[in-house]
Amino acid sequence: MNKFISKKDLLSWLGKLRETRRLIAPTRVEDLTLFKEVSRVEDIVFDYQNTDLPPKQFLFPATETIFSIEKKDGRVELVPAKVEKETVIFGVRPCDAKGILTLGMPFLEEPGDPLFREHREKTILVGISCLTACPECFCASMGSAPDDPSGMDIMLTGVKDGYLIQVLTDKGKALMPDSLLSSVDTPKPPAPQVSTVPSKGITEKMRQAFDDPYWGRVADRCLHCNVCSYVCPTCYCFDVRDYGGKNKTERVRSWESCQSPGFSKIAGGYDPRANKGTRMRQRFAHKLLYFPEHFGTMHCIGCGRCVRACPVNIDIREIIQDVQKLGVKEK
Ligand code: SF4
Ligand code: SF4
Repeated sequence: MNKFISKKDLLSWLGKLRETRRLIAPTRVEDLTLFKEVSRVEDIVFDYQNTDLPPKQFLFPATETIFSIEKKDGRVELVPAKVEKETVIFGVRPCDAKGILTLGMPFLEEPGDPLFREHREKTILVGISCLTACPECFCASMGSAPDDPSGMDIMLTGVKDGYLIQVLTDKGKALMPDSLLSSVDTPKPPAPQVSTVPSKGITEKMRQAFDDPYWGRVADRCLHCNVCSYVCPTCYCFDVRDYGGKNKTERVRSWESCQSPGFSKIAGGYDPRANKGTRMRQRFAHKLLYFPEHFGTMHCIGCGRCVRACPVNIDIREIIQDVQKLGVKEK
């Protein structure tokens, strides 16, 4: 038997949650599907394959004050930023839940980033498994699957008139009343087939390809627009600046990208990644070599967003295929 919730009960539950929490859900914005805070559950869209942008911005905002230094009554005080409200992110796809787990690894590794930790603790993920796969998805090659509940608090799978529901964590249990659920013998629909990339052994191949002129050739057409980093659920490069007035200074962090010229510049003006080839290599080596070595998992969850967004068609799936073949002599 599976647990079931009707679409009507799901919507009224979401409407109730919205009264006390920030409710984020997929909405239509012109021809895009984007996660946004919703004030009416009628604005939530259900007929999407995946959102054009991941939910990353609700845990790691594009621009965020991390603390301020304030002068009050002759004293100087450091005031850390706080996360005021609990957030429910509804409609997260399995790849993006894995993306949030992956994004959290560097931020939560001791000593940890207190602001990210607070965002994470106050965020509840309600996911919907994928019944169709986008042509650019390759989640199954990156350790996930269209029906993978990892990282979710509650997972839904669409069936006739409603959803099969898995309540997976204590946070999920505290949120979902048993009275809305019924037991049904409806079977779980099969997960769709997802395209694959030859990711087996890629970490070692990336190490071997470090000095290959390949990176310069691929990077030649890169415009360093940074879109690949900004649409990526797992990219977390940022810049930090101070903005100050007479009595208050704020330290603000904002998204940056390893593809930006000057991103790696250090004191004295030396830039170890002054050319596009070394920056391009850094992007893929971080995803496929350094991060897996350190955290034991790929820094790509196969969502395909960078594939769709890159204006010059630099495609991580092709990079993986090419790197697997580098150094292999044609017979
Ligand atoms: S999206 Fe494409 S062109 Fe833009 S920085 Fe990334 S690889 Fe370069
Ligand atoms: S497919 Fe591209 S955008 Fe998606 S996780 Fe991998 S690198 Fe990031």
